[in-house]
Amino acid sequence: MKNRVCPLCDSASMATVFAVEDYKESNFTEFAFASRKFPEYMHYRLNLCSRCDVIYASYVPSQEWLINAYEKAEFDSAEEAYFAARTYADFMRFIIPRIPNLQGALDIGTGNGAFLEELLRLGFTKIQGIEPSLAPAKAAKDNIRPLILEKPFQAADFNSESFSLVTCFQTIEHLPEPLTFVKDIHRILKKEGAVFFVFHNHRSVSAKMLGLKSPIFDIEHLQLFSRDSMQLLLHESGFVDVEIRVVYNKYPLRYWIKLMPMPLTVKKKLLILIDAMGIGRVPIIMPAGNLAGIGFKK
Ligand SMILES: [Zn+2]
Repeated sequence: MKNRVCPLCDSASMATVFAVEDYKESNFTEFAFASRKFPEYMHYRLNLCSRCDVIYASYVPSQEWLINAYEKAEFDSAEEAYFAARTYADFMRFIIPRIPNLQGALDIGTGNGAFLEELLRLGFTKIQGIEPSLAPAKAAKDNIRPLILEKPFQAADFNSESFSLVTCFQTIEHLPEPLTFVKDIHRILKKEGAVFFVFHNHRSVSAKMLGLKSPIFDIEHLQLFSRDSMQLLLHESGFVDVEIRVVYNKYPLRYWIKLMPMPLTVKKKLLILIDAMGIGRVPIIMPAGNLAGIGFKK
């Protein structure tokens, strides 16, 4: 474990304690570093930087430890991944008319490659996904798996100006150095290329209502952004025409229940009940406190 300062301004001078640490390493399962799991309500010590409006973990494991944890993480949420990919694909109407062409798209933290299927459907070519966890990549469809690099993102793996689009959904929270990461994305994008993030908004109504019982306060998240901090992150990385938009998530009812702040035993009983009633897979649309952050390279 090591101390950490604000990942945007590289200082702790404007930071206050947001929450004391609340986790037990003995409670880490193979799902602790998985996507769309049952929330465990565990988090590292969290600070809020009032200059940048970022909430960040201020005492964190080493990068090697995290890479190992992600590599071994389980995956059991293919259905939800397809719902999310379809939701995010709707935002492509704001992006496609502005980017130079549809050649070269990189999806970072692609999971089972659900969004790569959307990119294919939209007519993109030279599509690449990257995913550090082995289990989701294994769950990819046969035509998608060859498009997935099974390793953590490293900028050195990609040439400058090689992509028209870089997407990264609910992943920026997990990265130890988000500013360097977004600057790297800027470098590998072509001129007028776009970056498209989906991220958890720590200023959302649901985050305010649920407090530390919001699933966004999670052991996987090394920082949490807001409208202001995402704008700052994109501008400081060189992006222009930054847009922040509300995401209305569409997920099966059973996934919303997974996220609700109630004891795990109650949740599991409720899931059995709604599945028995045949309504567990009914799609429901709600703003879940997620935002889209889109920026363009000049
Ligand atoms: Zn800061």
